[in-house]
Amino acid sequence: PPEAVPQAPEDPLFGLMRAYKADTSSNKVDLGIGAYRDNNAKPWVLPVVKKADEILRNDPELNHEYLPIAGLAPFTSKAAELLLGQSSAASAEKRVASVQTISGTGAVHLGALFLAKFYKVNGANRTVYLSNPTWANHNQIFTNVGLPIATYPYFHKETKGLDIEGMKRALADAPERSIILLHACAHNPTGVDPSPEQWREIAEVMKAKQHFPFFDTAYQGFASGDLDRDAGAIRYFIEQGFELVIAQSFAKNFGLYGERAGCFHFVSAPAPDAADVTTRVASQLAILQRSEISNPPIYGARIAATVLNDAALFAEWQENLRTMSGRIITMREALRGKLEELGTPGTWNHITDQIGMFSFTGLTEAQVAKLRSDFHIYMTKNGRISMAGLNTSNVEYVAKAIDSVVRT
Ligand code: PMP
Repeated sequence: PPEAVPQAPEDPLFGLMRAYKADTSSNKVDLGIGAYRDNNAKPWVLPVVKKADEILRNDPELNHEYLPIAGLAPFTSKAAELLLGQSSAASAEKRVASVQTISGTGAVHLGALFLAKFYKVNGANRTVYLSNPTWANHNQIFTNVGLPIATYPYFHKETKGLDIEGMKRALADAPERSIILLHACAHNPTGVDPSPEQWREIAEVMKAKQHFPFFDTAYQGFASGDLDRDAGAIRYFIEQGFELVIAQSFAKNFGLYGERAGCFHFVSAPAPDAADVTTRVASQLAILQRSEISNPPIYGARIAATVLNDAALFAEWQENLRTMSGRIITMREALRGKLEELGTPGTWNHITDQIGMFSFTGLTEAQVAKLRSDFHIYMTKNGRISMAGLNTSNVEYVAKAIDSVVRT
């Protein structure tokens, strides 16, 4: 009966957004939601996306038919190439199955659903290990499909960097063949990524325990400005012969947030029957997709496909990526610089050491609350700030406010 349905809490991030919108202060600063803003605190439509949109709108053949169940092929194939590189053995050996999804969230969900149904070989452990902390949605996506979740240490509170030893120990202690969720780059919420050497160590432990890597990549190109560099961890794991899955979002790197452009990829391990395995997996993914969404949305995929399949537009996209990542890196330097100038107690090097959309500042829940009540600065209560919310007009105000709450 309906009266048995309990009230669920509001999503904290979207609640924060609502509170920010309702705030009438002219000083208010939104450091909550992970969406890029330009130096005027406005959403930025990438110039290359505008061009692709123009091309599409001028195409007299364009219609609004359904996409195939697996999505727009010129989009999914280029999406895979972006992750795996142009000379990928996995692609050449037909070991990759790609399905267009409802952005990154839909890709994580499709992967979770797929594993919930099929990850049962030889009594494998079905627990999904998530970094502590992780993107909050991971917890509920895996829980909702009935997979147990656990965590591995990730963020080191003192160094505000990676707790590599704790992470490796937890991966070594986890039962064999556990599912390990890894952020491919620009870890959300901490902005802390393993170095290439640390990725090698992580892969080594995971291989010894036959763990199953589940990569989530939502910031390729947006993190460093270099698409290949941000795919480095995924490529390394594939070269190491892992069977793995990847959830890929184009929300941030194309600024296509609401268009929901994403992909899920399955990569089988090198084996004589690998292409067959991949074909079977693709057939099952199609069934799951059909029962969930029938077929994915078309607009964002068309935009991305137009850019990804044209050399000149692709080059322009890389420029746009460098504009976004460059502005964020400049804001990291500015915030750290101002805090150090003010002599704010504590160390602030982590702000420039961290990468991508977010910085995990180390501010306490009480300090976060004070920033909101006294300074109209909004951030999640774990002290995460979206760097994109900072600009040349507000960075000093934010630094002074942080300085003030840290001192009280
Ligand atoms: N994974 C991570 C780690 C993310 O940060 C995000 C974006 N917040 C996503 C997945 C998916 O976002 P979207 O569904 O908008 O692509």
